[in-house]
Amino acid sequence: MPRVVIVGGGISGLSLAYQLERRSPETEVLVLERAAHLGGTIGTQRQDGFQIETGPNGFLDNKPFALSLCRDLGLGERLITASEAARRNRYLFLGDRLRLLPNSLASFLTGDVFCWRSRFLLLAERFRPRRMQTDDESIDAFVRRRVGREVAETLADAFVTGIHAGDPTLLSVQAAFPRLVELERDYGSVLRGMSATAKQRRREAAARGEAPPPAGRMWSFREGLSLLIETLRARLRFAPLTGVAVRTVRRLANDAWRVQSEGRDGWDAETVVLTCPAYEQARMLADEDGELATVLDGIAYNRLAVIALGYRAADVPTPLDGFGYLSPQRLRRDVLGAQWCSSIFPDRAPPGLVLLRAMCGGWNRPEMVDWDDDRLLNAVRGEMRHSMGIQTAPVFHRIVRWRKAIPQYHLGHRQRVEWMERRLDRHAGLLLGGNAFYGVALNDCIERADILAERIARGLERSSRR
Ligand SMILES: Cc1cc2nc3c(=O)[nH]c(=O)nc-3n(C[C@H](O)[C@H](O)[C@H](O)COP(=O)(O)OP(=O)(O)OC[C@H]3O[C@@H](n4cnc5c(N)ncnc54)[C@H](O)[C@@H]3O)c2cc1C
Repeated sequence: MPRVVIVGGGISGLSLAYQLERRSPETEVLVLERAAHLGGTIGTQRQDGFQIETGPNGFLDNKPFALSLCRDLGLGERLITASEAARRNRYLFLGDRLRLLPNSLASFLTGDVFCWRSRFLLLAERFRPRRMQTDDESIDAFVRRRVGREVAETLADAFVTGIHAGDPTLLSVQAAFPRLVELERDYGSVLRGMSATAKQRRREAAARGEAPPPAGRMWSFREGLSLLIETLRARLRFAPLTGVAVRTVRRLANDAWRVQSEGRDGWDAETVVLTCPAYEQARMLADEDGELATVLDGIAYNRLAVIALGYRAADVPTPLDGFGYLSPQRLRRDVLGAQWCSSIFPDRAPPGLVLLRAMCGGWNRPEMVDWDDDRLLNAVRGEMRHSMGIQTAPVFHRIVRWRKAIPQYHLGHRQRVEWMERRLDRHAGLLLGGNAFYGVALNDCIERADILAERIARGLERSSRR
């Protein structure tokens, strides 16, 4: 029986194992995970009647991969979608108050977040010439060029904060928001492209006799995202091994690969896929290919602290009628944003109480992650007072620190990934996966795992015919 070893038991590794087992039932697929539990960044914890996500809060349906994996696993009936208010209302903490973020062109033009000049620049975006150069550009530079400084510094910064908690002047638009680049390239304008593709989707839905597709929504389960991890684990034919810290991955004389753990255990396999973070992949490959390891190690990670807070609903004067708020990172505030978890999904807090989740740190405030609990909690309480008028202490809190949280796709990222793909041609049977290359959202990780599963299954089929 051929063997495939997957290093890392996060969503990338587990969904890859699941897809590979389905495509290639004759193969032994072994997942090795360093932690005592599976899921990587995904984790649902319960305490005092609160249900807290320590990492991702849910996934979006702007891409189909996470939803279709859940349905495939038989979890379709257990999926829940974010409340309508959470879908419609997101706030920006700017100028000492919460302002409703525009969610359509009309609300952009009539809202009070942007000055008249920015509103005019947005309308004129359709007529701005497309960029002819094909070299990389930062997200900030892209948005500044298309719609001006104010939108770049508020709207683009807030989106980047919400997804990457990174610096828009450093992040690559090609790697982090490839769709924006494609819309400009294909339609000459982002707005024109968005309205053309929306029209196309409506036409396709009408042709199928369906209602127009709703705009992007967030999904999870009543039991939290860990349900996806538990179900994946239960469905794998070969139980993943936890508590296995992989140290090296070396090519053997017979062209197989040996995966060696920190202990004395070693596994030989025809194919090895690394889905752990890039800096771990670098460490494992340092002896095998120093140059590849150096490029992998160059992928930066930000730091994040997630502070879950439970309050009595009566102590929160701001109506929690939305997803939460974001604060542009350039302002260097103590809190990057707060999600109103109990307004997004049901059953996140006991009756009469609410659950919020504040994010601290990010690319521009990494030191905050090292603050002790009291200092961090005080800072967050100060921000909750300032932004939402909450004067009282939380009745519950929990702090989770991610010292290497989300990979940052800095300028030139796509070119570096292309280089790595070419470099892997020298290492038949070795593949790199995980969230460090083609997208950080759960959808991206699952899509990438699908692509790798297909590639490996085809390779195994070819070698079985030989
Ligand atoms: C705070 C936070 C909030 C987020 N919110 C969202 C969200 O709302 N929606 C969304 O779509 N995405 C969100 N993301 C991003 C998303 O959660 C991640 O990109 C995704 O979960 C990464 O999955 P992965 O399997 O690629 O990596 P990981 O989850 O990092 O898994 C890698 C695994 O490799 C293991 N490992 C490491 N070293 C070794 C070793 N030496 N040997 C063996 N195993 C090893 C690790 O223990 C880990 O389990 C969020 C991320 C964070 C940090």
